[in-house]
Amino acid sequence: MKVLVIGAGFAGLATAGLLAKAGHEVQVVEALDGPGGRADSLEFEGFRFDTGPSWYLMPDAFDHFYRQMGTTTAAELDLVDLDPGYRVYTGERAPLDIPATASATIELFEGIEPGAGEKLRAHLRSAGETYTLALERFLYTTFDTPAPFLHPKVIARVGELLRLLLEPLERKVNRDFEDPQIRQTLSYPAVFLSSEPKAIPSLYHLMSHTDLVQGVRYPQGGFNAVVSSLHRLAVEAGVVFHFNTPVSEILVEDGRAVGVHTPGKVWRADAVVSGADLHHTETTLLPRRWRSRPERTWRRRDPGLGAVLVLLGVQGELPQLAHHTLLLSEDWDPDFAAVYGRGSALREHGASHSIYVSKPSASDPGVAPEGQENLFILVPVPADPEIGRGTAYGTEQASGVVAGIAEQAIARLAEQAGIPDLNERILVRRTLGPGDFAERYHAWSGGALGLAHTLRQSAFFRGSNTSAKVSGLYYAGSTTLPGVGVPMCLISADNVRRSLLRDQKRGILRKL
Ligand SMILES: Cc1cc2nc3c(=O)[nH]c(=O)nc-3n(C[C@H](O)[C@H](O)[C@H](O)COP(=O)(O)OP(=O)(O)OC[C@H]3O[C@@H](n4cnc5c(N)ncnc54)[C@H](O)[C@@H]3O)c2cc1C
Repeated sequence: MKVLVIGAGFAGLATAGLLAKAGHEVQVVEALDGPGGRADSLEFEGFRFDTGPSWYLMPDAFDHFYRQMGTTTAAELDLVDLDPGYRVYTGERAPLDIPATASATIELFEGIEPGAGEKLRAHLRSAGETYTLALERFLYTTFDTPAPFLHPKVIARVGELLRLLLEPLERKVNRDFEDPQIRQTLSYPAVFLSSEPKAIPSLYHLMSHTDLVQGVRYPQGGFNAVVSSLHRLAVEAGVVFHFNTPVSEILVEDGRAVGVHTPGKVWRADAVVSGADLHHTETTLLPRRWRSRPERTWRRRDPGLGAVLVLLGVQGELPQLAHHTLLLSEDWDPDFAAVYGRGSALREHGASHSIYVSKPSASDPGVAPEGQENLFILVPVPADPEIGRGTAYGTEQASGVVAGIAEQAIARLAEQAGIPDLNERILVRRTLGPGDFAERYHAWSGGALGLAHTLRQSAFFRGSNTSAKVSGLYYAGSTTLPGVGVPMCLISADNVRRSLLRDQKRGILRKL
């Protein structure tokens, strides 16, 4: 089959590679001038910043993908185990370093709250079982048959799974643990899923298996190295990339996707995969009658988390920060309200005071000049392009709101981590805002990560890797199944590969 893939983000790269490996003739059309999408890399005055992912979690998904491509993670990436996995500042309390092993974390929690060690052991056992079940039954699937639900392992746990689906993560964690820092450590992964602890099902406590049991790793060269590896493997498998080539329309004839339109050119194909944001694909690239869902249904959806990103090159070392540091308010409810209560709550509270800081220079000498530090601050904000743009992509001046949020975040970091002279030591400062995400990546509502993983936007409720109306049209990436994050993008690529094979076997997909 001749397959056209729209977008060279993680999902587009992975899908193109897998389809080429399966023997298809694959071309990728990407609007930007290189691969990576949101996982971009920028260089300013000797500092190299990743603008997207920084946590390497769920190693199984990477291992599986690389095996499918005929290689191994070890051959492709130089992974470093982080110890501590990360550091948590809560209010004015002393920072908590989360160790690299579960047994050490159990001991640590026991020292903070008597009884919490045993409770964490039980929490992690359940997280591990749920994670394995998800991997075996609910992630590598397109839900086009009820098979995932009918497996004996699922049936045996159905009562427990229903409870985990219906109870929010925050309630489950708060029932078992008292200490605010422990509670936050176990609830924060909701943010990785583009949501907040009170809004996502406790099923996602499985995330604690990834950071506390599997551990946190860092690919040397940052996620840019992962992008380069996927791009190279795709090229080696025969994929042809066309950059600076924005798609304006997906061509549909008699209910079949037959190609795409780019300025001045029609590209014909037997099948089309969109790795672009699903909202953009459905509401901009597809003619109205071929959209899977009516436009009004998007109004009921939650675009998830927006972000203001602050990229800093800093003079001298910053031992106050680990490779990954969470700086959280003791009471973070108003922070989440500012993000999910949207505009008015943001104006009242200011942006979230709870922020995430990555310091890749802790592990990678290539990201900053010697003796200097590279910082990436993520400030959660509403997914709202009106918040504006930053300066990372050539805009002379950030919007007033983005600039203000960046100032606040730097002040917050200086105060909570005890770096009083931080402001004076900044050598390089660039920012990104939701306006950049909307404009550069066509991200719905300027969201940074994709639809929030609430119950109504998880599993088959989230969408499908196959268009409901157009045969030969497939969807990959963080805005569709299974969801947010690089590992999920790799899994969505495999789901598309299998959907295409399924349709070929059923005779739905034929060569034009
Ligand atoms: C700040 C931030 C931090 C993150 N942290 C982590 C983390 O620590 N760990 C983790 O695993 N994940 C993390 N993520 C999530 C992860 O980066 C994303 O899930 C993933 O990169 C999304 O990839 P994608 O291919 O689905 O989308 P994208 O990266 O958005 O790729 C879509 C591509 O399609 C292109 N495109 C769009 N429209 C068109 C068009 N009309 N024509 C042609 N091309 C088009 C875009 O230019 C883009 O290149 C983070 C994301 C962000 C933004």
